[in-house]
Amino acid sequence: MDQQKNVLVIGAGIAGMKACLLLAKTGKQVYLVEKLPIIGGKTIKNEESFPNLECSTCMVAPVQQEILQHPNIKTLTLSEVEKIEGDIGNFTIIINKKARYVSDTDCIGCDMCFDPCPVSISNEWEENLMNKKAIYVPCSGSLPNVPTIDTEHCYHFNGKQECNACVEACMFEAINFDDKDEKVEIQVGAVIIATGSDIYDVSLLPQFGYGKHPGIYTSMEFERLFASNGPTSGELTIRNSEKTPKSIAIIHCVGRKEQDYCSGICCMYSAKHAHFIKHKLPDTKIYNFYRDICVPGKTYQKFVEKINDIETQMIYHNSMDELNILHNENEITIEYITGKSKKETLTVDMVILASALNPGKDFSDISKMAKIDLDKNGFFITNQEKVGSVESTKPGIFIAGCAEGPKDVQTSVIQAEAAVSGVMSCLDS
Ligand SMILES: Cc1cc2nc3c(=O)[nH]c(=O)nc-3n(C[C@H](O)[C@H](O)[C@H](O)COP(=O)(O)OP(=O)(O)OC[C@H]3O[C@@H](n4cnc5c(N)ncnc54)[C@H](O)[C@@H]3O)c2cc1C
Ligand code: SF4
Ligand code: SF4
Repeated sequence: MDQQKNVLVIGAGIAGMKACLLLAKTGKQVYLVEKLPIIGGKTIKNEESFPNLECSTCMVAPVQQEILQHPNIKTLTLSEVEKIEGDIGNFTIIINKKARYVSDTDCIGCDMCFDPCPVSISNEWEENLMNKKAIYVPCSGSLPNVPTIDTEHCYHFNGKQECNACVEACMFEAINFDDKDEKVEIQVGAVIIATGSDIYDVSLLPQFGYGKHPGIYTSMEFERLFASNGPTSGELTIRNSEKTPKSIAIIHCVGRKEQDYCSGICCMYSAKHAHFIKHKLPDTKIYNFYRDICVPGKTYQKFVEKINDIETQMIYHNSMDELNILHNENEITIEYITGKSKKETLTVDMVILASALNPGKDFSDISKMAKIDLDKNGFFITNQEKVGSVESTKPGIFIAGCAEGPKDVQTSVIQAEAAVSGVMSCLDS
């Protein structure tokens, strides 16, 4: 059988997108499979990106645009790989592509269909900090800028009442309730898995009071709170109120003990959060509760020192097990043991839980489907016999970005480039 030259990339975060563009530029046909209705991954949730605090949208939007316009890249959103069969040079892939119910050729992204929709539901992409309609795009600036319909909540699909309001509002006849899910079969020579990672579910640790007080946030919720295209247009106010926090505690390493590894980026994004707060609310007091500060590399140490030393108060505490967040309607109190084994408390208006990253829920299914191994923590493992390799335990399948383990954007992109050179060296040009 002839060797296939096409490549499949799973996951349209920064790692997957960068890999696609490089492959497409070499003339390869690339299939990019993304489970969400939009491309961009976690990076587009950030207003600014450490270490240079550059505007994330300015960094990522040109990449997203190029992906969507490149003739060698076929992007399949709302899609998941269902079957991977074969070996290096000849993989057969079956993809389950869900119906969008809105035509990406007819829709011009005018948003006229949103307002008339009578349904209002929580927007998970916005970390449930705001609502969306049953016909929606996850955030403003979504790419592709074409809405999708949530069939579980849409009245037309769930039969709760008759509704045609979005169809009536659309002057471009772009909405099609008869759209159907599809099975797409493709042949590729190599695969890059760039499915990113999940974020540790802090509600599993009741000592931190997450979900019990409106002032307690996860780090990703805080990213959206700060974002100018986010739920409060970048206003730092406490959930369900107009109140501006006068004091904020950042708790490092939440979930680290349970995950048994350091995610390596939380100290950096926490320093970035402290910088955001000082920039927006210069009089707000910031306290960093830490046991370890992990900032590798030549630029990161300086970034953290500059921000933490000047803009925040660092509080070393003795034990994560003995740090408890107590709350009543008006106050959040952090109870902790100091480095000198003394019990102390501190009352603040807002808490940010710097949560660890963990493997995606479907990593185990993907590993079985692709016949590749996971490491003991549940991330995809690379071939340990080849130093620095990004090849998985099966030839022809490569891993890039946070799918291999938590990391920053820069390292994710470097791995994407390494995965592309791996693909190029295993497929004839
Ligand atoms: C709160 C927070 C702040 C951060 N701030 C910074 C920062 O300032 N600077 C920095 O360098 N790094 C930062 N990071 C880290 C940064 O987010 C990651 O380095 C980056 O997102 C990794 O990119 P990725 O492409 O590997 O994964 P992701 O960005 O997670 O993208 C993975 C993509 O794959 C898709 N996907 C997942 N599973 C499947 C599947 N089965 N099928 C199809 N598609 C799938 C996902 O929907 C997603 O679109 C931050 C992380 C967090 C949590
Ligand atoms: S579906 Fe129609 S109304 Fe809605 S954004 Fe697209 S073109 Fe506009
Ligand atoms: S048909 Fe569904 S998506 Fe369209 S307006 Fe009605 S409830 Fe909303």
